Amino acid sequence: MKLLIMGPPGAGKGTQAEMLVKELGITHISTGDMFRAAIKEGTEMGKKAKEYMDRGELVPDEVVVGMVKDRLQKPDCQKGFLLDGFPRTLAQAEALDETLRSMGIQLDGVINITVPRDKLMARLTGRRVCRNCGATYHILFNPPQMEGKCNACGGELYQRSDDNEEAVANRLDVYEAQTRPLIEYYTQKGLLVNINGDQEIKKVFEDIIAGLKK
Ligand SMILES: [Zn+2]
Repeated sequence: MKLLIMGPPGAGKGTQAEMLVKELGITHISTGDMFRAAIKEGTEMGKKAKEYMDRGELVPDEVVVGMVKDRLQKPDCQKGFLLDGFPRTLAQAEALDETLRSMGIQLDGVINITVPRDKLMARLTGRRVCRNCGATYHILFNPPQMEGKCNACGGELYQRSDDNEEAVANRLDVYEAQTRPLIEYYTQKGLLVNINGDQEIKKVFEDIIAGLKK
């Protein structure tokens, strides 16, 4: 199967992606990993990307799409793939379509994991980190034995600045604004599989598998 997975920060996309590639025997292509590998291998696209990154600039879409194309041509993608973290914008989605068409590949589905905003806020703002040893906790899902204190070393727990309400709300706003047109785009193509991510991990996974069979 040739799939794409989307979901806001905190929706559990990474966990589901890992389970999915195992179950379906397909290759996981996370854009972040792909970038690092292409740069390390020194491919033409990797070199281009590095130039932009070294200058502190955003890597342009044609370079990113070029890297995705290189990656999709590797033999391990013939059995199927799960693209994760790409496309992020409508322009990228259109460029990806063009690339896939040129390679004779058709997407089988686009998994879209949704979680209500207040739940995402709770998931994302609940993280606490030990100032002393760096151990991480979650006030709801993995609370320390003593409030505000690290189990391992007794150090003080704090909230990182990028986990505070304002920063998290901003991240979610950016995600929503960017992906709204994508959701529309893939809906029109009849590819979108909406999944309720506000359930147990196992149930979310079962829903994805069932949704793909439809
Ligand atoms: Zn500690």
